[in-house]
Amino acid sequence: MQVRLNEFSRQWEATGREVLSALERVGAGGRYILGERVAAFERDLAASWPSGFAVGVGSGLDALEIGLRALGIGPGDRILTTPLSAFATTLAILRVGATPVFVDTDAGGLIDLERCREVLRRDAGVRLLLPVHLYGHAVDLDALGALADEFGVGVLEDCAQSIGAKWRGRSTGTVGAVAATSFYPTKNLGALGDAGAVLTSSPTIAERARALRHYGQSAPYAHDALGLNSRLDELQAAILGEVLLPRLPEGLRRRRATARRYREEIRHEHIALPPVPAGSDSCWHLFPVLVAAERRTSLMEHLRSRGVESAVHYPRLIPEQKALIDYGRFEIAGELAQARRFAEGEVSLPVHPHLTEAEIAHVIACCNDWRAA
Ligand SMILES: *Cc1c(COP(=O)(O)O)cnc(C)c1O
Repeated sequence: MQVRLNEFSRQWEATGREVLSALERVGAGGRYILGERVAAFERDLAASWPSGFAVGVGSGLDALEIGLRALGIGPGDRILTTPLSAFATTLAILRVGATPVFVDTDAGGLIDLERCREVLRRDAGVRLLLPVHLYGHAVDLDALGALADEFGVGVLEDCAQSIGAKWRGRSTGTVGAVAATSFYPTKNLGALGDAGAVLTSSPTIAERARALRHYGQSAPYAHDALGLNSRLDELQAAILGEVLLPRLPEGLRRRRATARRYREEIRHEHIALPPVPAGSDSCWHLFPVLVAAERRTSLMEHLRSRGVESAVHYPRLIPEQKALIDYGRFEIAGELAQARRFAEGEVSLPVHPHLTEAEIAHVIACCNDWRAA
């Protein structure tokens, strides 16, 4: 049996015919950039998230950068963020010339908001919090909102992994003025290529984001800002909006059911299940487990020998990446011990929505019969 982290061919089996007919409609319609499909997808995404406005862009990275710029973040601004995420989270900060300030995570791998509070209390120079709803768990949105209010800082949530996640009934991405998400193929709502979106409750910010994705134009040939070319294209919008968004609830249901089984049935003295925040209705973009650093290779090799693919999210802390060290402008607020625990001992198990019952049972059995060296 082969159990992969992602099975895009199964998604294609289920959706290919509809995707091809969506493609045909776009092709025949003759409008390929910023037409009615992008507008319709943005409306449907905003309605289902729910969020005031959605602005489709070229990738999750661009959504973060455009979100930061729409908030007026630029050189010299300091931003509290997590050392444990996709590099894109920090790369967006660097691209606008700002300075990331890394704060440790909690035991679940999410930015530690208590640590953030300590930093904010003694340091008045922070302008923004950029938390990541990592693995599909919702960061405590109540605490996040309270921090923003108490210290007068902005919030931009990285929701690339949290499509469908809620905190006590409230969607992630709704605390600050702006959130960003990604439709990279592996994400919970994955395009057949690159795509992303800026989410906002503010019509002004939505308008700025629309201008920034389109060469900074406020009107045709009126360039008010140095924008990007980062338009979501009609093809991806049609595929996302007409074929994949309607299937998202079923995909989420399956991810949650698989995660529930893993959490109930994986029983091994050397495999720990990191805590899920108490108010989080997680969307399980990934399923992380933790082992001792010296045992990680043994577990991954064992799984591989039984046909189960696994991965590490993320093996190196962001402040230890060469690109950041070369950039030079970053700060580390205190120890990063919890985040390091994940970098050294995390293993992600397959949790995609196309797993069969037999595959789920196989993953559980393989974990439970691992003879930890
Ligand atoms: C995937 C991801 C991104 C980047 O999205 P792209 O569409 O690949 O640019 C940013 N942040 C997080 C947490 C991600 O998982």
